[in-house]
Amino acid sequence: GRAPRAPRAENALEALQRVFGYDAFRGEQQEIVEHVIAGGDALVLMPTGGGKSLCYQIPALVREGVGVVVSPLIALMQDQVDALRAAGVRAGFLNSTQDLDERRLVEAEFLAGELDLLYLAPERLRSEATLDLLGRGTVSLFAIDEAHCVAQWGHDFRPDYLQLSALHERWPDVPRIALTATATAAVRDEIAVRLDLKDARHFVASFDRPNIQYRIVPKNDPRKQLLELLRTEHAGDAGIVYCLSRASVEKTAEFLVKQGIDAVPYHAGLDAGTRAANQARFLREDGLVVVATIAFGMGIDKPDVRFVAHLDLPKSIEGYYQETGRAGRDGLPSTAWLAYGLQDVVQQRKMIDTSEGDDTHRRRLAAHLDAMLSLCETVECRRVRLLAHFGQESTPCGNCDTCLTPPESWDGTVAAQKLLSAVVRLKRERGQKFGAGQIVDILLGRKTAKVIQFDHDALSVFGIGTELNEAQWRGVVRQLLAQGLLAVEGDYGTLVLTDASAQVLGGHRKVPMRREPERPARAARSAKP
Ligand code: ADP
Ligand code: ZN
Repeated sequence: GRAPRAPRAENALEALQRVFGYDAFRGEQQEIVEHVIAGGDALVLMPTGGGKSLCYQIPALVREGVGVVVSPLIALMQDQVDALRAAGVRAGFLNSTQDLDERRLVEAEFLAGELDLLYLAPERLRSEATLDLLGRGTVSLFAIDEAHCVAQWGHDFRPDYLQLSALHERWPDVPRIALTATATAAVRDEIAVRLDLKDARHFVASFDRPNIQYRIVPKNDPRKQLLELLRTEHAGDAGIVYCLSRASVEKTAEFLVKQGIDAVPYHAGLDAGTRAANQARFLREDGLVVVATIAFGMGIDKPDVRFVAHLDLPKSIEGYYQETGRAGRDGLPSTAWLAYGLQDVVQQRKMIDTSEGDDTHRRRLAAHLDAMLSLCETVECRRVRLLAHFGQESTPCGNCDTCLTPPESWDGTVAAQKLLSAVVRLKRERGQKFGAGQIVDILLGRKTAKVIQFDHDALSVFGIGTELNEAQWRGVVRQLLAQGLLAVEGDYGTLVLTDASAQVLGGHRKVPMRREPERPARAARSAKP
């Protein structure tokens, strides 16, 4: 049926208060809203939870015509529209989940001027019929949500977004507002060029989330480490645990339940009913833990998520930042905790090597992974590094793991030389390829079956690394990877030299390394208020 008509708002503040029930604008919302109402173009960067939606919803209520919102989050459109309708906003959507009758109804409402907001999946704009439909109605503004999807350099490029430049060509007088929660300076520039928003006003909110404590620990027994975190700091708290694979989501959720923790799985392989039920429980209940793939969280607006834990390395800082940003929207202390290990790097390199797309695409993925790795291995404040990635300067936060327990550094030059020499020796061996495990066994002088099979105990580097233990050698490998002094390729995670390796082998470059804590660093301050 038709939604009740809310009388068109006279001004922005009135719409904010009457329709959305809020007293005042937050941060730059008011400036953005007024700029768009006046017909200006805008590019808005605001962290997750910052309140981007109102920036286009309110101008759509105030301006004459229908606000057209392009969003890739098709699964959320129904919920978004339902919530708007409940508030008396006349909203509709067009995407591939609808049948023809549903689409026709929305189209008729649009043409009759009976909508304030129309949500569109980007692929709809590929069809001339949709453009024609928009041409026959009155569009008050175009909002382009998740605008980083237009950037090929970004972490979530979607080809359908490239066509959005056509909107401006066809409707040069309709204001456009592009919004995103993740954009480095390079991605921001690319958005501005591709969407022809060079003359738009840019609104860049601070990306700092001071109440989130960032911690990154070496992974040894991830489920146990997670359990320790939950028991000691987050008992009874709601939180999200991210895993890379569905299988690992299932296993981790089972493990937590066995340990008496209220946890449910969430991934795209579960049927829609289970997914919806688990999500609804998470939103409704106080202390539920959702173990999920990154499919979970888009558009989830739960204020009291006290921790976000990653059991696997995220593919990019952008993704990591977006996922951790789901913690602590209420402003109370929260934890972003990540456990990562060498295996993560090997696995992700393999995924990049075998990914579809051209070399440029693979190079981009590799650059994203490298940035993530260097965040993991930094001896600097995590927050300083995170914000710098998004082009924002800051001072050490005093609240992340490296600020609370500054990692000692040591001169890893000799260790690096030993390890790189072993890589060189193995490379000369009949083109055989070996991963980190074999190299470490050789350095430690272990006569494993595989070492004996390949006569590796006869190499000059056999047993030259007994001053470090296995975990420490794996740390050396990780840090060399993070510093670009070593690379990994192929199905077996073969270690190979980089152009820069020669400087270390030749004694022209020192290699500072971060000392690994014997045990995962414990925060000095509990995350609980
Ligand atoms: P984003 O899209 O930037 O992640 P949302 O638009 O979903 O953020 O807003 C996050 C939350 O903040 C929502 O619950 C929203 O209703 C609330 N919010 C936004 N603006 C205001 C405001 N001015 N006053 C109070 N709450 C607000
Ligand atoms: Zn810090």
